[in-house]
Amino acid sequence: MKIARYDVIPLKVPEDDPLANMPEEAGRTRPVVALKLATDDRLEGIGVTLYGGRINRALTAAIEDMAALIVGEDPQRIEHIIGKLRAATGDSGAAGIFTLALSIIDIALWDLKGKALGQPLWKLLGGHRQRVPTYASGSLRRGLSDDQAQRAARTLLEKGFREMKTQLGLPGDPTPADEVRRVTRVREAIGPDIKLMCDINQRWRPEQAIDIGRRIEDVGLFWLEDVTAADDYAGLARVTDALATPVAGGEYLWGIVPFRHMVEARSVDIVMIDVARVGGVTQWMKVAGMAEAFNLPVVSHVMPEILVHMVAACPNGLTVEYMPWTRALYEETPAIEKGQLVLGDGPGLGLKFDEKALTRFRA
Ligand SMILES: [Mg+2]
Repeated sequence: MKIARYDVIPLKVPEDDPLANMPEEAGRTRPVVALKLATDDRLEGIGVTLYGGRINRALTAAIEDMAALIVGEDPQRIEHIIGKLRAATGDSGAAGIFTLALSIIDIALWDLKGKALGQPLWKLLGGHRQRVPTYASGSLRRGLSDDQAQRAARTLLEKGFREMKTQLGLPGDPTPADEVRRVTRVREAIGPDIKLMCDINQRWRPEQAIDIGRRIEDVGLFWLEDVTAADDYAGLARVTDALATPVAGGEYLWGIVPFRHMVEARSVDIVMIDVARVGGVTQWMKVAGMAEAFNLPVVSHVMPEILVHMVAACPNGLTVEYMPWTRALYEETPAIEKGQLVLGDGPGLGLKFDEKALTRFRA
């Protein structure tokens, strides 16, 4: 079996909020790239990547050039292909377009491997379990008013979610009391039994994180995420040490090496791994193993349709972020039952692009 063809599709996907229907700005779109990688025996692997921003054309071109380099290769020799791509283009990585492009190719290769072997990816990667907890994400944003956030939280409850994430580091110049008030309101809307996560997106300094983190300990957060600059491993460790609330982080790290520094410094209690920034499925699983050795759970970041396989595969997978940015690209995605994502037995990713959506969103 050899890689024979590729099709790289730049997209602009609407930035709506299908979970709670509380979009911040109507009509805004998010750049996404889709990939189809076909073999000479008519198998097709698919992949998706993000973060091209306003230079999504450059990311698209990088994926095309890198895909051209692997035509004729055996798609099951994934580490060999990664090595070839690294040797040819890796000087423009790790933090940046090289890794985003490597990731989409790696995802498509794993989809192909699953299809070639007739195995779903979650099983191929370890098969720890077939149902995984999931949490609603992207709805309870910091830009909403307290009332809107409460309404959105109730909508998520009505939809059956048992876990959900909100944000602090409020816009403007909030006082610590403003931050405490907001997260308390969200907690009031959902009651004490729902797992509530809270993302800071690196907006606090370590001392602020310790101050506000202590004031909100009794809100009972499941985790506090990216409390300060993602590569301030010592600062993160200080916050993690000071708080009873678990601290999560890792989505902003590129490749696998920074995770070593993060876990060695005991910077976080929960390791969050972004598949596009880490370099694909192959590198995601390596970080999950590294975290396991440090007695740390791992969680996913965005693209739940793909990431559910990796969280389900490993013994230290905790929960899947249900961020529906890319859901509209597929004909069908895993069902949610009793707050858990249920994996199918279809080979590879078990996903099919919705061709009409690809045409509609084409950039
Ligand atoms: Mg985050």
